[in-house]
Amino acid sequence: MKKFEYMEKHGYEQLVFFHDAETGLKGITCIHNTTLGPALGGTRLWHYDNEDDATLDVLRLARGMTYKAAAAGLNLGGGKTVLMGDAEKVKSEGYFRGLGRYVQSLNGRYITAEDINVHAKDLDFVNMETDYVVGLQHKSGNPSPMTALGVFHGIRASLQEVFGSSDIEGKTFSVQGVGQTGDYLIGYLQEAKAKKIYYTEINEKHIKKMEEKYPDVEFVEPDKIYDLEVDVFAPCALGAVMNDDTIPRLNCKIVAGTANNVPEDEEKHGNMLKERNILYAPDFVINAGGLINVYHELQGYNRDNAVNDIRKIYDRMLDIYKLAKENDVHTQQAAKLFAKERIKTISTVRSNFIKR
Ligand code: NAD
Repeated sequence: MKKFEYMEKHGYEQLVFFHDAETGLKGITCIHNTTLGPALGGTRLWHYDNEDDATLDVLRLARGMTYKAAAAGLNLGGGKTVLMGDAEKVKSEGYFRGLGRYVQSLNGRYITAEDINVHAKDLDFVNMETDYVVGLQHKSGNPSPMTALGVFHGIRASLQEVFGSSDIEGKTFSVQGVGQTGDYLIGYLQEAKAKKIYYTEINEKHIKKMEEKYPDVEFVEPDKIYDLEVDVFAPCALGAVMNDDTIPRLNCKIVAGTANNVPEDEEKHGNMLKERNILYAPDFVINAGGLINVYHELQGYNRDNAVNDIRKIYDRMLDIYKLAKENDVHTQQAAKLFAKERIKTISTVRSNFIKR
């Protein structure tokens, strides 16, 4: 892989490889852009086939974090760490303390958090060696309810955009996946008196949980979820679920959920949704509640302040929808324009010297 070529093309700042022979720690930290603040992004532990796959993954994920933080209005840049290894074998106190030491060595340019196969209890070890870690058990805790809360407000904004009213009452919903975020989202929608909610799930345990918790919410088979006539379809399971096969089947006005990378091909499927007049809530904007929540740890965590900032997703979504209309682009593209514009503006505003 031509790393410098790729970094130059997408404006990366730094790519750091680290290794610890004793614990088998083998990782890469990428800092994409720190114009707005320190780069924040979780650490992912994955069994990559080779170094190039790991490198490409960390580069892409870090860049995604830059846009996510910028669109969320946070003073954070984008970064990410990937660890190459088998999560069943490599995890230990020493392994994660080793990671913490490498994070510390970046002296605050990068702040880590949890991601796939790295959980809050692992971060406690990381935290023994570095101050630059968020999402700790004794601080902001589980991000999922906050992610779902942000999506709830993003759905309200999307309803406002399409129907001229943000009321959940009287509206119908379908939710794909009721693990953590889907479950919380259904709770918020029920509380706001949604007229009807359907869901689908492949895990029997979660189906049983739903039957007990929300007997009025109706189960449908996984493949049927796309065909339902509802106001809002909320993907809360996997990425790439908006594709050539599913978009023509949709019978909804809005697609807005917690899942990442929902359009399989951002350009093609963003435009297909636009052409079908289905409003797509850009994933990295609507699902930023968890990121906003951990960001508050950097200022001394206060739940009310975090919730207040998460509510602002409502206004941000409306700004992005306006931008999409003004520029006649699909909404995911408008969200990127919004994020890039914010980075550009702040870099200019902060270009003069002021003593503090
Ligand atoms: P989760 O694993 O707790 O829940 C996902 C659920 O989807 C599981 O119960 C799984 O069985 C189900 N599922 C998988 N494939 C399915 C299918 N084909 N049909 C129906 N159900 C299916 O995950 P989560 O934490 O709720 O996250 C959901 C999505 O949101 C992921 O894409 C994640 O990356 C994204 N996200 C989560 C957070 C967060 O705070 N947890 C933040 C940002 C983005």
